[in-house]
Amino acid sequence: MFFKKRKSKETNQAAARPEDIDFFGIYVHWPYCAKICPYCDFNVYAAKQRDNTALVDAIIRDLEAHRAVIGRRVVTSVYFGGGTPSLAKPEELYAILGKITELWTVHSAVEITVETNPEDVFPGKLSIWRDIGINRLSLGVQSLNNNALSFLGRQHTRDDALTAISQSLEYFPNTSADLIYARPGQSEDGWLSELNELLSTGIPHLSLYELTIKEKTAFEKQVERGGFIPLDDDAQADLYLATLKATGAAGLPAYEVSNHAKNESYWSRHNLTYWLGGDWIGVGPGAEGRFFGNDSDERIMTRAIRRPAEYIAATGDVGFGWDTETGPLTPVQDADERLIMGLRSVRGVSRTTLENLYGKQFDPAQIDGFVSSGHLEIESDRLKLTHDGWLLADFIASKLSPVFD
Ligand code: SF4
Repeated sequence: MFFKKRKSKETNQAAARPEDIDFFGIYVHWPYCAKICPYCDFNVYAAKQRDNTALVDAIIRDLEAHRAVIGRRVVTSVYFGGGTPSLAKPEELYAILGKITELWTVHSAVEITVETNPEDVFPGKLSIWRDIGINRLSLGVQSLNNNALSFLGRQHTRDDALTAISQSLEYFPNTSADLIYARPGQSEDGWLSELNELLSTGIPHLSLYELTIKEKTAFEKQVERGGFIPLDDDAQADLYLATLKATGAAGLPAYEVSNHAKNESYWSRHNLTYWLGGDWIGVGPGAEGRFFGNDSDERIMTRAIRRPAEYIAATGDVGFGWDTETGPLTPVQDADERLIMGLRSVRGVSRTTLENLYGKQFDPAQIDGFVSSGHLEIESDRLKLTHDGWLLADFIASKLSPVFD
């Protein structure tokens, strides 16, 4: 094995393979952006005029190293995320996809997504992306209001966003848009009119995120200096519930806390892999993975080195770009992750699978309490959150976890 063993005093049973999913995803992190947005805490760096040959070669070495550990699999999704992978040349994305095809069997219905900003979308590029096998776009629209786009530090206008959506839908019926709401001073009416305008484009999938002020971002400094006041929790909760109602009425109900789709065929298969505890590998600087290795009952957590130059150097030495945190999850760590992630989706979590991993049962009083308060539902073996429950998803997960202290 290439990773260090995690030290653990826990001795309960080995991790179980997920009972209801056979997805295997590949996440590729492209760490460069034309400009760093003031709210963003991802592992990103200014793109400048770079030659990305060394990064692509490193990602390919990393894929080859993963193949030796994870063995034969059927790839059900590939996700180029970032950063801004739409800044990569099509031939760079093609080289990575070619290597994936060489190393693994690719499912006939594989989902291949690339994240893109509206200013990078034009027909010539869309056509090439489609030709190299990409079949889903995730557009960083963020807002349809020019003042808000300027506040969010974005490079595009509302007209650019609307044009990008309509052009993307011509080439990629499976297009998603990201929006950021609960911005300072945003009213419910203002948000719903922006959301309804987006819904009227006919886009089949939306990822709608509330603005949160993350540590070490430019927005954190602005808030500290009194530059603006974030929306308070009650107003955010009202906007969240109004959002669920509006998307449901428009035929794009939520299938996860922040994700909405026309029907199941538009559910993001790659993200379901995360939410339902499937296996995925992560390549590229800072990417994370979770998987069962060859003939192993341990679920491995991998994390790649964050700085591109160090990641590239590490893959040159050992193939992998993993950092020192990489190692097996204990069954309890695995269970906690599955609980937190699974409760976010409408599929919920299997009580039996989690109790086996925890080595103990959920507290029936906690479960009954959340059922009585209207936050949780039980459907045969599955625990699922209601819309009110989604508002408190992380809190409820922490209370349900039988090992939380
Ligand atoms: S474009 Fe996306 S990934 Fe890049 S800095 Fe902005 S929000 Fe972050």
